[in-house]
Amino acid sequence: MGLTGLEIYKQLPKKNCGECGPPTCLAFAMALANGKAQLDTCPYVSDEARANLESASAPPIALVKAGVGDNVVEMGDETELFRHDKKYYHETSVGFKVSDALSAADIEAKAKEIEDLTFERVGMQYKVQFVAVVNESGDAGKFKDAVAKVAANTAVTPMLVSEDAAAIEAALEVVGDKKPVICAATGDNYEKMVELAKGKECPLVVKAEGLEALAELVEKVVTAGHKQLILDSGQTQTSKTVADLVQMRRQAIKKKFRPFGYPSIVFTNEEDPLAEISQAITYVSKYAGVIILNTTKKAHVLPLLSWRQNLYTDPQVPIQVEQKLHEVGEVDENSPVYITTNFSLTYYSVQGEIESTKIPSYILSVDTDGTSVLTAYAAGKYEAEKIAEVMKKVGLDDKVKHRDLIIPGYVAVLKGKLEEASGWNVAVGPREASGIVAFAKSHFS
Ligand code: SF4
Repeated sequence: MGLTGLEIYKQLPKKNCGECGPPTCLAFAMALANGKAQLDTCPYVSDEARANLESASAPPIALVKAGVGDNVVEMGDETELFRHDKKYYHETSVGFKVSDALSAADIEAKAKEIEDLTFERVGMQYKVQFVAVVNESGDAGKFKDAVAKVAANTAVTPMLVSEDAAAIEAALEVVGDKKPVICAATGDNYEKMVELAKGKECPLVVKAEGLEALAELVEKVVTAGHKQLILDSGQTQTSKTVADLVQMRRQAIKKKFRPFGYPSIVFTNEEDPLAEISQAITYVSKYAGVIILNTTKKAHVLPLLSWRQNLYTDPQVPIQVEQKLHEVGEVDENSPVYITTNFSLTYYSVQGEIESTKIPSYILSVDTDGTSVLTAYAAGKYEAEKIAEVMKKVGLDDKVKHRDLIIPGYVAVLKGKLEEASGWNVAVGPREASGIVAFAKSHFS
């Protein structure tokens, strides 16, 4: 168990200088006890106190980093069991298997496919994190060649999957400077694997069958001097994997059980891609730090990344777009003007449908604190006077020569008041964004 705030306070310098952020040493001690501050931010802690407080100040789940440059991957550093208590911080890393038993041409094609897995949704970029080269051939030379082929065709951070230390050593000659994840140390090979991982400062997957064996092995690896770890409990059944993931997270967060204070890794094993994505979504929902998949098809991967994004956004801060007059296509003074809110999902749904109309249009997104149309209206954040004010602010009068607005069908009740407040004609659009194409066809073509 961690120390209480008062126990931590006794060991602090008690200067109350505020250099750490909180105004007093006591406030800092309380923040440390709750895992919401880092001991390093106090420059005056003695070495003795630092050693004593190390366990109290360490996050319940360690931050583990792989990769270099633009491809650094951060895992772990989580403090919550339930998202609504605060938020989750480091989204589940997603990687894809490439077998070294494939032909050179197939390895190259797979690596390029993984390199190409980037998406944009609700104004955010999605990336994938790992390409996991698997030593299915059992041959160290083939493994090294496959790793080299993959590295030549994608900048995605490599993961080296082999329990043969000689194969890992050979592969590290090729990609050791990319800080790959080494997967995995077991009871039989951990001494050599720790030596290799420490030599290149790489994160190391620690794998054992069952939680008890895993905890014991983690302690051995830590004693051997490596702490950048990722945990694999060796389960293959979905329900048992979920049970292990939950148990590890619970023990790390609630009991501060150090052997489980690292991110976890799981490998999907469903053959049907849709079943595989369902399995992966279950693991993302239940604390997996890293997931390695077989399917590399964009249509399969996108729903998983969307799910991940939804889970890892801050529940107290809706995703928003800027309040402004957006242009869709080559607009001119005759372009239609649609009004919506600045809730990202609403805005991008409307934008996508307007793009489909092929009619260049303006969209005015009104700041409603990132809430949807009906929620904003119910909360008094989407009223005629406010919309008229925003229209003035963005200079809508000068952008178009007509005086016609389209409002969402759900707030048809605003029509009269908005006409009065703005002096513009107001047309009531469809309730759902999916009705925009038909609406535009009947009004503008
Ligand atoms: Fe106390 Fe250190 Fe914070 Fe100063 S920086 S208030 S000494 S904990």
